[in-house]
Amino acid sequence: MCGIVGYIGDRDCADVLVDALSKLEYRGYDSAGIAVFDKGTIKVEKCKGRLINLVNKMELEGKPNGHCGIGHTRWATHGEPSDINSHPHGNKRVSIVHNGIIENYKQIKDFLIGEGYSFVSETDTETVAKLLDYYYVDDPIDTIIKVISEIKGSYALGIMFRDYPDRIFAVRKESPLIVGVGENENFLASDVPAIIKYTRDYYLLEADEIAVVKKDGVSIYNTHKEPVKKEINTADWDVDAAEKGGYEHFMLKEIYEQPSAVRDTISHRITDGMPDFSNDGIDMEQLKKYRQIFIVGCGTAMHAGMVGQYVIEKLARIPVIVDIASEFRYRDPLITDKDLLIVISQSGETADTLAVLRLAKEVNAATMAIVNVVGSSIAREADMVVYTHAGPEISVASTKAYMVQISVMYLLAFELAYLNGAISEEMCRKLTEELKSMPDIIKETLELKDTCSYVASKLMNAESLLYIGRGLDYALSMEGSLKLKEISYIHSESYAAGELKHGTISLITDGMPVIAVATQKKLIEKTISNIKEVKARGARVVLICADGVEVGEDVADYIIRLPQVDEQLMPMVAAAPLQLIAYYTSVLKGNDVDKPRNLAKSVTVE
Ligand code: GLU
Repeated sequence: MCGIVGYIGDRDCADVLVDALSKLEYRGYDSAGIAVFDKGTIKVEKCKGRLINLVNKMELEGKPNGHCGIGHTRWATHGEPSDINSHPHGNKRVSIVHNGIIENYKQIKDFLIGEGYSFVSETDTETVAKLLDYYYVDDPIDTIIKVISEIKGSYALGIMFRDYPDRIFAVRKESPLIVGVGENENFLASDVPAIIKYTRDYYLLEADEIAVVKKDGVSIYNTHKEPVKKEINTADWDVDAAEKGGYEHFMLKEIYEQPSAVRDTISHRITDGMPDFSNDGIDMEQLKKYRQIFIVGCGTAMHAGMVGQYVIEKLARIPVIVDIASEFRYRDPLITDKDLLIVISQSGETADTLAVLRLAKEVNAATMAIVNVVGSSIAREADMVVYTHAGPEISVASTKAYMVQISVMYLLAFELAYLNGAISEEMCRKLTEELKSMPDIIKETLELKDTCSYVASKLMNAESLLYIGRGLDYALSMEGSLKLKEISYIHSESYAAGELKHGTISLITDGMPVIAVATQKKLIEKTISNIKEVKARGARVVLICADGVEVGEDVADYIIRLPQVDEQLMPMVAAAPLQLIAYYTSVLKGNDVDKPRNLAKSVTVE
């Protein structure tokens, strides 16, 4: 998920690799490494931490000396950040760097262990390196074709074979990779900024195209080993735009990364159409035995917990209490060893959430962490960890981390519901299948960006606004409202639609915007009544509802229609449009979208 680079030419390879990797640092990473052909052998240097640690290490131990090699910055997904888990991986014959996730790595690993291989790291990547070694006889391209036919998941791979010191190989699927074309030198990179200093010309590799990169030329093959002719692209972006992959802000880039983030998070947790947390080492039979579940987090993570509360209670019929970490920890909570605590945190370092986890462990409650950063404090201390695979999130306002957190909530809810006998196997399969289709549906909702930008233009001058919804729509409104507050600095509140008339409706004045989220069939009539109440008092209403729902002409001033899926899953459909509304409002106001004032990405203070 982070960075790959490669070089072959006349320059000092280690220097070029380190320099190119430094241009990918913005993507976030936890370790770095390089492999360089040095006097006929593949010399590897790697370590945990910043790139500077690698540079210092090489200063002490001696830098690999050569003109051909690969480099990597790692964002751990399998195995904590450590020297051993850092890339490159392999052995004397083959060395690789990898970005992405190999979903079937366990099966491959078991097979290779049976064939006599041993493993030193906890990574999924090492299994690919050893599988390449296993199939390699004398033709690297045949070997790569064989290996990519067996691995499942997302990958960008830079590969070196000891027997071919004059070339590097590359292949990708889902994870990005380009081949930079220079004069008497060529490059590999995850992204343009890494190579822009050396060349602006590059090939974009399509899925499963195999590149053979030599000093004096690049050849590309398909999986039938036929040569592929490709157009050269020329980067005309400035470096700043290039870092964001051409998007204006990291937040927008991350909103667009949500389909692949969800896929990476759920796909290896579904086996034969059913949820399956066995790869996470979780015994679900045990989980269903708890008296109640507490879900605790801060900010956006807490809002993901609210979605979890609705779906777990509704489907699995297990009582769930959701709370804000800084409240929960000080209210002498009634949590015991018969309960399960689920904490949610993108960074895994959120101070209040970590404190709640420790408090629960003191009373011997079972603990589960849903965390994005591998090896983080919360992940290390919880009894069970479910890693989300959103990749690094750079924008302070969280988007893709929320989306993957709720996708985990769904899988947990489905499995608990099934194990509890609250839903049939058939129902569980049906829901899981719908969840699997979410990446495509989310992609569809991103096409609403112009609509969202139009709505934003109508909101940008408001002093204050309200988000309303019922049930799951209320949970979602909480997040929509927070997103808007965070980056547009417009005051906004989220209210349970039925609560308005108990006080808040007095705030409605002529022209005040109200965003009503109404994706739940059973509740839409009720929410429409609430919309009518605010409209009668002068509110300008934006209604967000599913396609095909009949709404009277004059109910709302503006309607955003969403693809209809199972109602339970509608938060995943409505989330991106709400994020886009907040995003465009912030852009139109000229705010610093990615770094809103007064906020920090990882809140490690209480
Ligand atoms: N899944 C691999 C690992 O955990 C690669 C992570 C990355 O994309 O950097 O080592």
